[in-house]
Amino acid sequence: MNKTDFIIVGQGIAGTLLAHFLQKAGRSVLVIDDGYERASSKVAAGIINPVTGRHYVKSWMIDELLPAARSTYRELESELGVPLYREMNVLRALFSHGEENDWLARCADPAYQPYLTANPEPGIYSAVTEPAFRYGGIRESAQVNVPLLVRAYRQKLELEGALIQEVFDYAALEWFEDGVRYKAIEAGKILFCEGAKGAQNPWFGHLPLQGNKGEVLHIQMAGQAPGQILKHRIFIVPLPAGDYWIGSTSDNRFEDDLPTAKGRDYLENHLRNLVTVPFEIREHRAALRPTVKDRRPLLGMHPEYPQLGIFNGLGTKGTSLGPYWAQAMADLLIQGRPIPVQVDHCRFNPDV
Ligand SMILES: Cc1cc2nc3c(=O)[nH]c(=O)nc-3n(C[C@H](O)[C@H](O)[C@H](O)COP(=O)(O)OP(=O)(O)OC[C@H]3O[C@@H](n4cnc5c(N)ncnc54)[C@H](O)[C@@H]3O)c2cc1C
Repeated sequence: MNKTDFIIVGQGIAGTLLAHFLQKAGRSVLVIDDGYERASSKVAAGIINPVTGRHYVKSWMIDELLPAARSTYRELESELGVPLYREMNVLRALFSHGEENDWLARCADPAYQPYLTANPEPGIYSAVTEPAFRYGGIRESAQVNVPLLVRAYRQKLELEGALIQEVFDYAALEWFEDGVRYKAIEAGKILFCEGAKGAQNPWFGHLPLQGNKGEVLHIQMAGQAPGQILKHRIFIVPLPAGDYWIGSTSDNRFEDDLPTAKGRDYLENHLRNLVTVPFEIREHRAALRPTVKDRRPLLGMHPEYPQLGIFNGLGTKGTSLGPYWAQAMADLLIQGRPIPVQVDHCRFNPDV
């Protein structure tokens, strides 16, 4: 019998970060992941954008999330020996006088001053894209190489003998008062970090994990790489290897997680109208974001089976939400520190 403190099911960014904080606290983990190529964490751009939306609003809890994200990714960079966190401003295209006025009003608000600039330089974008009416700048933003993080952490777990590649068999799980058994593994607790597939989980499948489909392109483009991310209705994100991540679509109604001709046309047409230099599409990918009805993560232990827990629902913002809430989940598991109600999955459980 193989013994471990925690079994973690799913090794996207949620399972990876939770494993990191548990291991950092000296606990043992065994991670079970199916190696699925269309996992959200393998398709995401990893943008951390503190000010978003049509009304240029600060992302929920961003003042707390950002320092946690920065220090966690820096720590993982030195532990894994790979570059993960790139500070990169976002150049946001504005399209009218109205948008310009709204932006300038935000810039004057003291709560927004650390994050916004009124007159950013478009730099190389002025040579390779159609000009916008005007630009706003977003500071404190970043791009995290999430696919590399997941890959490098998986290699570390493999070397430690702490990774099993398989689809978790729910029927093989047994639980007792003080732990669980899965095949030949005994553990104190099991945590489900399954992303959008968590909708099928027999113990947490009642939660409103709706899912949102996103499609992206990877392109190559002539010229020198810009040092900023461009948000011009879609995002253009310069990647470390020299290509560009273009995305994304957002669809709440979908049949599957496969790339579609409609998604590709949408992104490609937008690019053709925006980019003024030749480009070549290298890849077209799709994945399901693990979105929740109220756009907050899902954390905590099962009310009837306290050996079973969930860390999911990172939605469209796994890169910024992940580190702070993975630490909170680890604090619950190790110190019994309560989970704040707004992210406790029991908010959807009327009997609790
Ligand atoms: C197109 C797109 C663009 C995005 N861009 C950004 C961005 O710029 N910034 C940002 O912050 N977020 C972005 N996101 C969102 C981000 O990707 C998610 O918030 C995050 O990746 C979710 O991570 P996760 O670990 O919960 O799920 P996942 O990445 O889906 O990982 C779950 C893992 O568990 C495995 N698994 C599930 N069930 C089982 C089982 N029963 N047995 C074994 N294995 C199992 C899955 O196969 C998978 O490997 C984007 C998402 C998409 C789709």
